[in-house]
Amino acid sequence: MSLCSWRWGLLLLCWPIAGVADDVALRVTALPEAPASMAGHATGPADGQGGAVSRAWLRAPADRTAWYALRLAEDWHQAYRPLLAIRGNTRARATVYLPPDYRPHGDTVFDATLDPGFSHHAVVYLLPSDLRADQPIYVALGDPGQTQPIRVGITDVASYRVEDLRHVRVSTFLASVQLSMVLVILCFWLVLRDRMFLYFIVYVGAQVVYDMAVSGELYALPGAALLTPLGYHTGQSMAALAAGFSIWFILAFADLRHYTPRLAAWLGALRWPFLALAVVVWLPWLRPDAWLPNTVNLLLMVSTLVALASSWLAWRRGNRQAGFFLLSWVPLLALTMVRVVQLSAGLPWPAWLEYGFPGSMAWAAVIITVGLADRTLQVRHERDQATRMAQFDPLTGVFNRRAIMDRLRVAWQAATDGREPLAVLFLDIDHFKQINDSRGHSAGDACLVAVVEAIRAELGQSDRVGRYGGEEFLIMLRGDSARMAVRIAQRIIARASALRVPIGEHLIALTVSIGVAVRGAATPDVDSLVDRADTAQYRAKAEGRNRVVVWRGDAAVAAHVRMR
Ligand code: GH3
Ligand code: MG
Ligand code: MG
Repeated sequence: MSLCSWRWGLLLLCWPIAGVADDVALRVTALPEAPASMAGHATGPADGQGGAVSRAWLRAPADRTAWYALRLAEDWHQAYRPLLAIRGNTRARATVYLPPDYRPHGDTVFDATLDPGFSHHAVVYLLPSDLRADQPIYVALGDPGQTQPIRVGITDVASYRVEDLRHVRVSTFLASVQLSMVLVILCFWLVLRDRMFLYFIVYVGAQVVYDMAVSGELYALPGAALLTPLGYHTGQSMAALAAGFSIWFILAFADLRHYTPRLAAWLGALRWPFLALAVVVWLPWLRPDAWLPNTVNLLLMVSTLVALASSWLAWRRGNRQAGFFLLSWVPLLALTMVRVVQLSAGLPWPAWLEYGFPGSMAWAAVIITVGLADRTLQVRHERDQATRMAQFDPLTGVFNRRAIMDRLRVAWQAATDGREPLAVLFLDIDHFKQINDSRGHSAGDACLVAVVEAIRAELGQSDRVGRYGGEEFLIMLRGDSARMAVRIAQRIIARASALRVPIGEHLIALTVSIGVAVRGAATPDVDSLVDRADTAQYRAKAEGRNRVVVWRGDAAVAAHVRMR
């Protein structure tokens, strides 16, 4: 897939959310300290200054609490009530003081008690419908850890609901796609018990939980109140878990240890730190907030590059699954890189990245599921091929000795139960060694193939032929053809003697000898039936070759005259 086409895919994904609600113009003032008085007219040196913006990005400093005052550029005159939305806040502690009472509110998207009328995409507060431009809203941003800015805006509640519904539709769709793939693979695993399927389930499962934790939707699920105290640690832990298991998965899926052993060893080593970090997140005395996000990001960058290099090489070396992996992961990996840069540089979290991320995860889950199905198909092909090789003679394509004997035993059983006639022909090419000696081994091979074609031309639907040894063939005739065994044998003799096998500039002629044995009441078992046909065939050789001899009673009796 080219770079261009995935960009188009991303654009398509972002299209439904392109029309986000337009926030109204605000004046944003950074205050040097907490305002002395909240109510009504707050004072401060920068009060009322600065140009109006519709999207205010507020930054949480690492070492202190930052205060901001937000004001409408004009008094509120719209039909619907104004609403304050704080978007993209997953880590900073934001406390807002709203008119008219200026009581502090410190909700986060992780609170299960948020207004159920809205999604957890943002923390929202309804504002008084008579909000005036001279009534400030104060935001205190603190708590280190979140370096990327938070988007704060005021919009009317009706427009916000439209935006919110769009968000819910898109994120529910993307999560459902991934969860469907998890379910499909879970069913595969239940039946096939391949451990690789489990790696996929944990990896994509953790990815979905991460995604829902970041978008806040996880906390809107029933019972999610239990997760609230864990805050953003749930998302962090799931991200590390997903990364670790994705490495496990790709190692097994693309068989990287076989195709690129050295890079695979590196990649294999990288999954352990991820798993360790998924646990360390929960150990506050190690102060993970201070160093963990950057460590995860760094590890992600390194492992991404190694995974890409390794699967690229494996793909070049002929591994189909590595190709599937590349196709599925390139958009996700590109966005991961962008996300890491965005997080490290403290840049805003744009909508195309916010939705591009779960979109590319869904894309990856679908493509990898196709890849898994493709792998299952490949395994089936290999198994079929092994079955074929175990049953058929590779040179002539007829059954090998074991397979024709198996079929003969089955036919013997049917003949016993249903009194169906059964006969075997034992065919041996005359003076075959001479053909090999004078024209070479490959000429001999060509003659074997030609004789098989001659035999097949005379067989009915229920008759079978197998290669018994070097240039010996066993032919099983059932039903009517068993009654006509001698005539069929004669016709094969005639066909064989008419053959002219082209070898280079020469045409090779050959003859065959056939012994016939028909199952009678006194035939003890399959092996003696074959022995009798073989004995008759020896007799045919002794009598001068190129003829049919039928086994009768104690001795093989020449039943039919020489063909020529
Ligand atoms: P007869 O008429 O008595 O059967 O003589 P013959 O030469 O056919 O019999 P013999 O058993 O002496 O020779 C069989 C030869 O078949 C010997 C062996 O090299 C050759 N042979 C066995 N398998 C193959 C094969 O797969 N390809 C070729 N080209 N030759 C084979
Ligand atoms: Mg022989
Ligand atoms: Mg022979």
